Amino acid sequence: MSDWNIEQAEELYRVKRWGGGYFQIGDNGNLHITPNEDDEHLRIDFKSVIEEIQRENIQFPVVVRFHDILRAQVAALNDIFNKTIQAAGYESPYMGVYPIKVNQMREVVEEIVDAGQPYQFGLEAGSKAELLAVLAYNTNENALTILNGYKDDEFLKLAFMGMLMGRNIIIVVEKFSELAAITRLSRELGIRPTIGLRAKMSVKGRGKWEGSSGDRAKFGLSISEIVAAVAYLKKEDMLDTLKLLHFHIGSQLTDIRSIKEAITEAARIYTELHHMDVKLEYVDVGGGLGIDYDGSKSTSDSSKNYSMKEYVGDIVYGMQEICDQEQVPHPILVSESGRALTAHHSCVVMEIVSEIKPNGGNVNAPIDGEEHFILTNIRELADNLEAYPNPQEIYNDATDWKEQAQNAFKLRVLSLEQLATVESLYWNIMDTLRQRLKTAQFIPEDLQDLEKLLASQYLGNFSVFQSAADTWAIDQGLPVVPITRMHEKPTVTCSLVDITCDSDGKIDHFVGESSPNTTIALHELKEDEKYYVGLFLTGAYQDVMGDMHNLFGRLNEVHIFSYDDDPEDFYIEEIVRGSSVESVLDIMQYNPKSMAKDVKKVIDKQISAGKLNPREGVRWIDFYDDCLAGYTYLKTS
Ligand SMILES: *Cc1c(COP(=O)(O)O)cnc(C)c1O
Repeated sequence: MSDWNIEQAEELYRVKRWGGGYFQIGDNGNLHITPNEDDEHLRIDFKSVIEEIQRENIQFPVVVRFHDILRAQVAALNDIFNKTIQAAGYESPYMGVYPIKVNQMREVVEEIVDAGQPYQFGLEAGSKAELLAVLAYNTNENALTILNGYKDDEFLKLAFMGMLMGRNIIIVVEKFSELAAITRLSRELGIRPTIGLRAKMSVKGRGKWEGSSGDRAKFGLSISEIVAAVAYLKKEDMLDTLKLLHFHIGSQLTDIRSIKEAITEAARIYTELHHMDVKLEYVDVGGGLGIDYDGSKSTSDSSKNYSMKEYVGDIVYGMQEICDQEQVPHPILVSESGRALTAHHSCVVMEIVSEIKPNGGNVNAPIDGEEHFILTNIRELADNLEAYPNPQEIYNDATDWKEQAQNAFKLRVLSLEQLATVESLYWNIMDTLRQRLKTAQFIPEDLQDLEKLLASQYLGNFSVFQSAADTWAIDQGLPVVPITRMHEKPTVTCSLVDITCDSDGKIDHFVGESSPNTTIALHELKEDEKYYVGLFLTGAYQDVMGDMHNLFGRLNEVHIFSYDDDPEDFYIEEIVRGSSVESVLDIMQYNPKSMAKDVKKVIDKQISAGKLNPREGVRWIDFYDDCLAGYTYLKTS
């Protein structure tokens, strides 16, 4: 093991770079979690978490949530805003909200509301269903409730109801016609609302979501509509209800420049409106604060070239500068960061159940009598590789023999077993070539893809579509890291495939030096030891966007709280059971109870017909019932 150490493991898996201070590789080679930067003694070994999950008889894959990380992120965002505001002498406070669409899980929303209590941190809803949840959960009356998204009368009425409940609600107008509905309902109900306008910005948020701004954006009012909205509200005698200017130029902003530009543009609109006697009190800068998924600190789609501090600094100082130039009061600053708050706190832990090798068969047909020359030739090449110094020549010859063998098979010259032998020899030759090229100075072009060609596939007991939808949909990179053995050299080059019957069900986009890499190095599987791999930074969007492709349902979940007095520094606060097969079938309109009855009927008939022993029959019926009640993923011992 002397040729490997944890520094090299860090180099490979980049845990510190994407870990946000919460994850590190421990000296024992296990992944460690440090949820509280003020308490360096608090250190959770992920292996102990896995052992605890096993003791509780919870089947993998499992979503592991670290609530301390969620709380720490809420505190970090608020503290940074507050400190920056103080340092700048900015004259209004920060009042952030969490947009629940990023992760609507009740436990997540509750934790954020609780951690945000001292900061008057609020919630944002973008649909009726989300608003129903927010009305019940945003219990801090001083905190804001921001309403985005398209709204019907029912949505708006719920907003008015929230005002009657004493909540600090701001209805953000996404399209002009909503204004008429708001004024009509306000009159009908006799309640004066607080209104915001979402501006369609000209600045583009560079990154995957740049369509969120610009002339063709789905949401928001153009400059001329904003001016018309002011005239409309004045006419309706409602101008005093207009309090907030909102923009959102896209999620996962990769480049700090787009934030600077957006602040300048928004500050200009805000100050100009002030000059037009529109006394706005808030500017809401939306979401977009990014996550460095690949640890590259770059403007690649899965990264960002700025820190939370820089992001906040640009907002506070940018707004202050323009307001001071125009001699307009500093607005209260609102932001709607979702990704940045939630991404780190949750991950998916799966067991690698097997290795799929390109040369799985390794057939060697016995030579009986006169062997066909194709076989003899490739066998000779395989047996005498040292005699060939030129890798390109070996590659050409072997590839040529393999193609000839495939043709000969079609022409009924080679048997199936003989073709299998040629294939096996071919892969053995390629494997030897790959070993040889590892130390080579120069790799010919044809051979550069050898590593990819020979890469194994590690079969993970999970579904990409359920647990990592964005890796499939938009090629989002997520860190994949083994939970243990990082002090051992990982010797298997592989990609990760899931258990769905879909060839898209794979992860072949990994963080690393020449990011994105199509393969990752993991450890050799052992007969007597389970190998667990984590998919990290899944707390934002991935957690809640998954679908049930192949009827793989939601995962079992454990919620981890740190606890200094515990020898392992943590305890499982809650276990949330994932979907059973029954519940998944039920959503698809099946009736599992009547299915079980029908199956029982058929088995009973076989019993009466004497084709099945009654005892055995009952066991099969019970087995069917157990599977219905069971977990949708593979059961591994
Ligand atoms: C999605 C969304 C957000 C959240 O953005 P993040 O980049 O996840 O912080 C905020 N505001 C609006 C209007 C959104 O649509």
